[in-house]
Amino acid sequence: MNLTKIPLVDLNAQYAGIRREINQAIQRVLNNTSFILGKEVSDFEQAFASYVNATGAVGVASGTAALFLALSACGIGHDDEVITTAHTFMATAEAISQTGARPIFIDIDSKTYNIDVDLVEDAITNKTRAILPVHLYGHPVQMDQLSDIAKRHNLWLIEDAAQAHGAKYKGQPCGRIGHIGCFSFYPGKNLGAYGDAGAVTSNDEELLKKIRSLRNHGRMTKYEHKEVGFGERMDALQAAILSVKLQYLEEWTEARRDIARLYNRLLADSDITIPCELQEARHVYHLYVIRTLQRDKVLDHLRSKGIGAGIHYPIPLHRQPVYAKQINANVFLPVTERIAKEIISLPMYPELNEKQIHYVVQTIKEVV
Ligand SMILES: *Cc1c(COP(=O)(O)O)cnc(C)c1O
Repeated sequence: MNLTKIPLVDLNAQYAGIRREINQAIQRVLNNTSFILGKEVSDFEQAFASYVNATGAVGVASGTAALFLALSACGIGHDDEVITTAHTFMATAEAISQTGARPIFIDIDSKTYNIDVDLVEDAITNKTRAILPVHLYGHPVQMDQLSDIAKRHNLWLIEDAAQAHGAKYKGQPCGRIGHIGCFSFYPGKNLGAYGDAGAVTSNDEELLKKIRSLRNHGRMTKYEHKEVGFGERMDALQAAILSVKLQYLEEWTEARRDIARLYNRLLADSDITIPCELQEARHVYHLYVIRTLQRDKVLDHLRSKGIGAGIHYPIPLHRQPVYAKQINANVFLPVTERIAKEIISLPMYPELNEKQIHYVVQTIKEVV
């Protein structure tokens, strides 16, 4: 075993364990040459909907497409406002902007790093159409409070569950609590394809139907288009691969949770702030994120020892050049800005072993 090189994510280790099944699935698609949508995709959609406990799922080309199509299906567009978090991947806000709407960034909770649900109501204006929370790192947002606000103000509630496959809040799977859930199957996600892919989940048949049409050029039948749609379909190779991997997702999630528990235990006697897992939450640890005031020192040291640590995300979205100039010039988000300077993502993948975890922690403790 190589202790001197521990990546942030190891997709090779995962493939090694399921190689035969994956290769068979790929061969099956090559043999039947139905490469876009078709039975592979609808089979995966059914399996994934049932995993999320939703009425239906629609396979799309990426997580970004899932978010964009979800917002579009809700009729969100020019001059509308969508309340979201700045402490997330660019795609969350990008999808809002792509519709012509404006992302309204509010601050995060200092424990979960998710949108601060107590600040949402104050941000609502007569232009607000939706709330878009992100279950960041795999820790669920406090959805009951958001559901209540959405209901009272007649807003859409769209979940960015790109990092939260299998996460639960009060026993409810992320992605089925709001009106729509948006998932990414980017290779490094907890459920990852071997290319770009995503899905939308919902219990609303009308919304599912609308998104099914939008992803496929607004088609009703092969030759009839009832609206201007998009080319955002899932392909069959990704669906076949995802169907194999979905069967292992719970096992992999439990492995991630075990790794997080061991990290927590080993770091407990240090100055490092470990991730929080609320009582009512099932965290799926897409990322294991610690905080320290000596961030850059710790990060440099980890990297010098061959440990693939990362920062998710160093620049909050309201500070990104594209947004800082336009619309959010005077937005100040104190918690978001402070935390962005203190976070480090440690190696996290189901195959990470105990020796490697001890080595990562020991390396951190050489600094703090
Ligand atoms: C990965 C990710 C996305 C985008 O997904 P893609 O499949 O890469 O388009 C959106 N939001 C969050 C929070 C993500 O982590």
